[in-house]
Amino acid sequence: MRQLTHWINGEARPARDGGWLDVFAPATRQVHAQAADGNAHDVEAAVAAAAAAFPAWSSLRNSERAAWLERLAVALEARIEDFARAESLDGGKPVRLAREVEIPRAIANLRFFAQAAVQFSSESHHGEAGLNYTLRQPLGVVGCISPWNLPLYLFTWKIAPALAAGNTVVAKPSEVTPLTATLLGELCGEIGFPRGVLNIVHGIGPNVGEPLVAHPVVKAVSFTGSTRVGQRIAALASPQLKKVSLELGGKNPTLVFADSDWRANLDTLARSAFQNSGQICLCGSRILVERAIYDEFRDAFVERTKALRLGDPTDAATDLGPLVSQGHFDKVTACVERARAEGGRFLLGGKASTLGGWYVDPTLIEGLGPDTATNQEEIFGPVATLQAFDSDEEALALANASDYGLAASIWTRDLQRAHRVAAGLRIGIVWINTWLMRDLRTPFGGVGQSGLGREGGAEAMRFFTEAKNVCLSLG
Ligand code: NAD
Repeated sequence: MRQLTHWINGEARPARDGGWLDVFAPATRQVHAQAADGNAHDVEAAVAAAAAAFPAWSSLRNSERAAWLERLAVALEARIEDFARAESLDGGKPVRLAREVEIPRAIANLRFFAQAAVQFSSESHHGEAGLNYTLRQPLGVVGCISPWNLPLYLFTWKIAPALAAGNTVVAKPSEVTPLTATLLGELCGEIGFPRGVLNIVHGIGPNVGEPLVAHPVVKAVSFTGSTRVGQRIAALASPQLKKVSLELGGKNPTLVFADSDWRANLDTLARSAFQNSGQICLCGSRILVERAIYDEFRDAFVERTKALRLGDPTDAATDLGPLVSQGHFDKVTACVERARAEGGRFLLGGKASTLGGWYVDPTLIEGLGPDTATNQEEIFGPVATLQAFDSDEEALALANASDYGLAASIWTRDLQRAHRVAAGLRIGIVWINTWLMRDLRTPFGGVGQSGLGREGGAEAMRFFTEAKNVCLSLG
């Protein structure tokens, strides 16, 4: 059985207390590896290594830190196929998605923040009271905690800006999908990445995540995951007034207006609901359709969704794989039953698939109002609802009828309406006539129950640095 060890101070280590966690392949429900079952002792060792590495790493020239990130990107690029297969095995995602989108994006994250390290600049203010300039200094040791749905993609999205800004890192990948982070640690070893700069500790949230968040040497925590755990992290961090960035859940609306080119965009619309079996925080799970086209749209959307191929993630023809774990499968199937109890009409799906893994058929439901639990609570699976609206105002009211506020897509050819509706959405990320188009410089994050703070570009570099104003009297 493959054993996935921590990566601490430049070496692979088992958990200090010797425990292992089973890691499952979602497509077969079989254990395919064991991950170190870490605890506060392992966190302590990793934080000590990171603290010892900080003075040298933060003193490097920005271009030298950039060169290390670039070397890591090159090494990852050379192993893209291995990483894609590992991601697919571990998370059940189609290998095609891992190969074409997620691992390339992890490489892009490393490259993007390598460039950010040398491009990042700070402000100066003058002409009013002396000459002021702002130093943007690294924080020290920071914690990065990531989820299972886009494992390496989100892991690198956090560690890359943290390292680029001059911090040293203790990272905790999800215990559900620990494989590619472990492989990345090994790559660090192969390229001679400076010891202690990036440390990876495996284990479950309460045993590893909590001691990491609460550790007094850890100056900031960047977290992506559920709203429930985000709230717990905020509570743990607040007594120390620690910086936190929280990227949490969503219940995203997709607004389809009658004048839109929806037929030509059915592929993207279906992807926006079901990519990665709906296990992307940005997926649109509430599809709002202008009544004038509702029936026509519904029938075409059902047909398009039927064409999605559910199956073996290693098959290049597969569009949708299984859900990630038994626990998540149980949650999603319970949500489906709740939708039935709430009176939803199932247009498609509504049951577990007969395939062997944790598969759930893509499911489309109509007839549920905005206040139902189905339309309020994040399901994070291949389950979407359809609701009709009659006016722009009603579309906006339905879209905003959620405590979450992560992402939305608006589909219309009327540009004035598009901008008006975009401005009225209580949401962090809005796409118009597209979905998941990403410029890594843009602010990324949500409002309300979807989180606190923004990632991406300069926002991430600012989060991982402390601003210090220096004021010089000009006499
Ligand atoms: P999760 O909150 O269960 O776990 C996320 C990470 O936190 C894991 O590494 C986990 O081990 C750790 N953790 C769990 N309990 C902890 C605790 N008490 N203290 C510290 N760390 C703890 O989330 P998940 O199920 O892995 O991921 C799915 C969720 O992530 C969904 O809600 C999804 O919307 C969200 N998500 C959000 C974004 C975004 O950018 N906003 C992106 C991807 C996923």
